[in-house]
Amino acid sequence: MLEAKLTDEQGRMAALERYAVLDTPPAEPFDRITSLVKSIFKVPIAAVSLVDRERQWFKAMDGLAVRETPRSASFCAHTIMDRTVLAIPDATADHRFTGNPLVVGEPFIRSYAGAPLSTPDGYNVGALCAIDTVPRNFDESQLGILSSLASLVVDELELRRIAETDHLTGAMSRRGFVTAVETEIERHRRGNRGSVLVLLDIDHFKSINDEYGHPAGDKVIRVVSSVCMGHLRSNDAFGRLGGEEFGILLTETDEAGGRAAAERMRERIAEIVMPVADGRRVTASFGISAVRADIGNAAAWIAEVDKALYLAKRSGRNRCVIADKALKSLL
Ligand code: GH3
Ligand code: MG
Ligand code: MG
Repeated sequence: MLEAKLTDEQGRMAALERYAVLDTPPAEPFDRITSLVKSIFKVPIAAVSLVDRERQWFKAMDGLAVRETPRSASFCAHTIMDRTVLAIPDATADHRFTGNPLVVGEPFIRSYAGAPLSTPDGYNVGALCAIDTVPRNFDESQLGILSSLASLVVDELELRRIAETDHLTGAMSRRGFVTAVETEIERHRRGNRGSVLVLLDIDHFKSINDEYGHPAGDKVIRVVSSVCMGHLRSNDAFGRLGGEEFGILLTETDEAGGRAAAERMRERIAEIVMPVADGRRVTASFGISAVRADIGNAAAWIAEVDKALYLAKRSGRNRCVIADKALKSLL
């Protein structure tokens, strides 16, 4: 049963995506672990590698100035095919690696040890690895240590996932969402990928709490968030930023596409009969802004969309307002 997961690539990718870790900035706990691997094994290179569809991407890399390599050139892509540590004493004597560009060229890898990063539900999402430029035999106790450190990497990924999830709705927490927005701004800088940030806030929500009680208010929050989640594509992000305020990051789209998506959500929310005593309807207001090169960071982008949301509230609620136009009309 568990072993079947080693060949379930779709399930493995879903497990990796749940961590929402790819292309995020380096973080100290992972850097500390690669630094430990380097000093315990006395190797020049150590990495936390996550094996994506077509590449391996390094959450931590100590000793080499690369953030990713093609999956086809990856040692760790072999490690994830098994439950146990993979040790390669001499890559030039192993047919799987003799033609590997990282063996025949820079950094001239000769030996490798990698422990799979196994999720609690049994998927290998990547590997913690030690790499040397001379042949060497890794002994059992060293490989045991590498496995334990790999478990610590997974624990850290799990804790981050929990901290970045909102318990009422299953959406990202504010912290997780802001990280996703930051990552998207970085992607736009590198590849000019279009995306749209949307903020929405439920209208007159206080009166729902007042009339039907707080638990009924919670139900409304859950329904609104599931309507929004139903409109997302797989690379989009959805977060609960506060009580009844949500953020949506629509990827690979432009202002017109973002606006159309927000309008659909707005209409759908307004149509739904809410699960409160006399089945009342609720509406929500939306602020919208497409990414631009001059957006400095997540906080600045969110503040800009917040102004548009404020204008949507001020001009009657149950509507979408685009930030650019909102800012001009406030001047
Ligand atoms: P507006 O149309 O201007 O947004 O009016 P509003 O009544 O929605 O105003 P506001 O956004 O200030 O009110 C938010 C309310 O949400 C206040 C707070 O009591 C309530 N709230 C915050 N968090 C939760 C929660 O987790 N559950 C419930 N049921 N209510 C919450
Ligand atoms: Mg509100
Ligand atoms: Mg609010």
